[in-house]
Amino acid sequence: MLHDRSLEESATVFSEPAISITKLNHYYGHGSLRKQVLFDINLQIQRGEIVIMTGPSGSGKTTLLTLMGSLRSIQSGSLKILGNELLNASKAQMTLTRRNIGYIFQAHNLLNFLTAYQNVEMALETQDVTAQAADCRIQDILMAVGLEERMHSYPSDLSGGQKQRVAIARALVSQPQIILADEPTAALDKKSGRDVVEIMEKLAKEQGCTILLVTHDNRILDLADRIITWKMDA
Ligand code: ADP
Ligand code: MG
Repeated sequence: MLHDRSLEESATVFSEPAISITKLNHYYGHGSLRKQVLFDINLQIQRGEIVIMTGPSGSGKTTLLTLMGSLRSIQSGSLKILGNELLNASKAQMTLTRRNIGYIFQAHNLLNFLTAYQNVEMALETQDVTAQAADCRIQDILMAVGLEERMHSYPSDLSGGQKQRVAIARALVSQPQIILADEPTAALDKKSGRDVVEIMEKLAKEQGCTILLVTHDNRILDLADRIITWKMDA
């Protein structure tokens, strides 16, 4: 019986969207300084979808990404990641949710005292993989982003596009179900910006991963399955 029930439960969870948001509000500050930045957001993103979100600066896109990424607590409304509710979630549940998510930020956030290989390796430290399997995965993913020659280089010896490709490798090496990317091409020139998103898209498609990418970069809009244009509410 127990076995049947758990199967049923996992089937239910599997059919849920990757991200499901209902009436989400968010506020910063307290008392007279309290300021609302998200207003009754409703949004569903299906598994495997590649969604690009654009909108004015200050409209709350990064805030929304940090809430989806389980990096910040939900205050009101509902936000489900892979069927799991984050409103009132415990620290442990939030940590578990984070394991299904890869993040790519505007600034690549690589550690300068670690090589490309070691930066990617860090993302596997919380995962249950043997050292040998980890080594294979790190080499494969660095090859996939075209950095086979640069595996043992430090960030200071890499170009902007190369550093962002290490960041992509780091986000994807744990084979997350969802990638959240916050203006990943902002620091890159046209060509490397597009290259970086194309690599990300290709790898994510191979892994069946869902992507939500925030950008101001009009040149990559055609890579999306769906474009969400954010308006300023306040
Ligand atoms: P976007 O990414 O669309 O530019 P943000 O989510 O960064 O928007 O910011 C939305 C609003 O919330 C802005 O007015 C910003 O100043 C404010 N804000 C963002 N982060 C914080 C914070 N940690 N504390 C207080 N206000 C914040
Ligand atoms: Mg932002």
